[in-house]
Amino acid sequence: MKEILTTGLNQLNLPTAAVPALMEYGRLLVEKNQSMNLTAITDPAEVARLHFLDCAALLGAADFRNKTVLDVGTGAGFPGMVLRLVEPDLHLTLLDSLQKRMDWLREIAPALGAEDVQIFHGRAEEFGQNPAYREQFDLVTSRAVADLRVLCELCLPFVKPGGYFLAMKGQKAQEEKDAASRCVSILGGRLCKDYVYTIPGSEISHRVVVVEKLRPTPGAYPRRFAKIKKSPL
Ligand code: SAM
Repeated sequence: MKEILTTGLNQLNLPTAAVPALMEYGRLLVEKNQSMNLTAITDPAEVARLHFLDCAALLGAADFRNKTVLDVGTGAGFPGMVLRLVEPDLHLTLLDSLQKRMDWLREIAPALGAEDVQIFHGRAEEFGQNPAYREQFDLVTSRAVADLRVLCELCLPFVKPGGYFLAMKGQKAQEEKDAASRCVSILGGRLCKDYVYTIPGSEISHRVVVVEKLRPTPGAYPRRFAKIKKSPL
């Protein structure tokens, strides 16, 4: 894992100081995965590539330094915790609706030197209507949580006007993007050029859909989750 991470981070032009913390994160992830469903990927080399390097690559999509960052549907901390370990100069909040995963992240954060990370258990559509979180973040990230239209309604309300929502997607993002342009505009955003990268040490290319927040999101959004799912914007 050490070699894969060091080489991969070098290829991404990112610092390698976080390699020991990432290795500990990987060890704790695989260990806990025996009793709690955290990840389908358990081979250490695959964890290094498909979780850590994939998430770290997102740092190339925007300038994260000194930014307030919210990761929606973070699960076992992806991509948020990886971003914070590789780029310690960001102010990270993690949000997920599964309490057990958030309890685990809270438990391991000190061992990773990431005690400063705010970790919340809750639903994005509810937090997004709370003034304490609404339009409070420079950057909002999300990986493998929902279709882009659903995701935009969950995530764009958190972004400050002038900030960005970064949705990590596979190569099929174009279809979702085509379907989401009206929704993005209603929510106060604008679709920008995608950020495309290849995960170091693999042939896998991923795509980040970048949405700039131009104006505040109308107060009616996000709606209740059943409504968002039933009639996406
Ligand atoms: N982002 C992580 C990753 O890339 O490995 C986890 C992906 S997992 C497939 C989706 C996560 O989104 C789950 O942990 C789930 O609890 C969370 N989630 C789904 N809908 C949510 C919502 N409305 N609000 C908050 N979290 C949500």
